[in-house]
Amino acid sequence: SSATRQSLKIGLVPADGIGREVIPAARAAIEALGSDIPKPEFVDLLAGFELFTRTGTALPDETVEALKECDCALFGSVSSPSKRVTGYSSPIVALRKKLDLYANIRPVVSVAPNPNDKPSVDLIVVRENTECLYVKQEEIKSTESGREARAIRLITERASARIGRMAFELARARPRKHLTIIHKSNVLSVTDGLFRETVRAIPKQNPGRYDDVTIAEQLVDSAVYRLFREPQIYDVMVAPNLYGDIISDAAAALVGSLGLVPSINAGDSFVMGEPVHGSAPDIAGKNIANPIASIRSAALMLRHLGYGAPADRLDKAVDQVIREGQVLTPDLGGKATTQEALDAVLRKL
Ligand code: ATP
Ligand code: MG
Repeated sequence: SSATRQSLKIGLVPADGIGREVIPAARAAIEALGSDIPKPEFVDLLAGFELFTRTGTALPDETVEALKECDCALFGSVSSPSKRVTGYSSPIVALRKKLDLYANIRPVVSVAPNPNDKPSVDLIVVRENTECLYVKQEEIKSTESGREARAIRLITERASARIGRMAFELARARPRKHLTIIHKSNVLSVTDGLFRETVRAIPKQNPGRYDDVTIAEQLVDSAVYRLFREPQIYDVMVAPNLYGDIISDAAAALVGSLGLVPSINAGDSFVMGEPVHGSAPDIAGKNIANPIASIRSAALMLRHLGYGAPADRLDKAVDQVIREGQVLTPDLGGKATTQEALDAVLRKL
């Protein structure tokens, strides 16, 4: 448990592009927490497309093995090649599989203009991360009337139950304790029917534990519509992989820059923080990337490990910097560099 750790071994995988600028910033923010957390021990690790072009390997075995020895990790971002490159596959996708990080958790929170106001958007998307259409079992064949392509969409009771439990746990820990199950079971009654039914059954299997959690359901299409019209109705949203992917990005658009939105990839024994943005080749190497998404990812990672108070400290420091609006990177309309934005957060800490 969190209380018994003497030190916290944190793997750092900056990977490509601005990952190399924002992950060191997150590291500095964690170090600034001082004795609020067990002494952090950082392990620098390699992965990414750039590594692949140099060495032919995007995710070295040493990186995976070293991560298994860590308590948690922070991952930057990988460049996605515009064309298919032979022998290359995304290291982040592989890592989620190898470490069984079955949940992608993405809080989307707007910063209230006044510290005493409630944010207008304050929700968490909990996306199943291992199955659905992402099992990538596709085939194509020729028929008399032209080519025909199919994809398998896998939904299992096991994966639906574990993502459902994670969502219920998150919901019961929040002030509003409200869970919305996203599906499309009016059309896909078998696959989405199983997802919905499995998530719904969780409170019965844990008598008493989720009594305070209110449960709603929403078809994915109307969920996206309402997300834009009245995002305040949502607290925790749980969804199968593809719907979760789409909803997560839509929700991120509600709060402005991609440079603000954090995530974690979580399993039963490991958690990896990851800013939602990509490698941003257009601004990489210029020291203007917003470090906030990575700092918030570090906070989320710490919270998941049981360090709620230090995580709150990080989030509050970031909120103050955004609210004051004096030291902002260009994506938020300011002129500050990555380093200056980081320094502003460190001063608040
Ligand atoms: P990738 O293929 O790695 O996803 P991309 O070109 O899709 O790269 P993203 O990282 O997804 O780039 O970013 C999309 C846009 O948002 C880019 O214009 C980028 O500069 C901007 N952006 C993303 N992250 C940040 C950040 N942390 N700070 C400032 N701008 C950002
Ligand atoms: Mg992108």
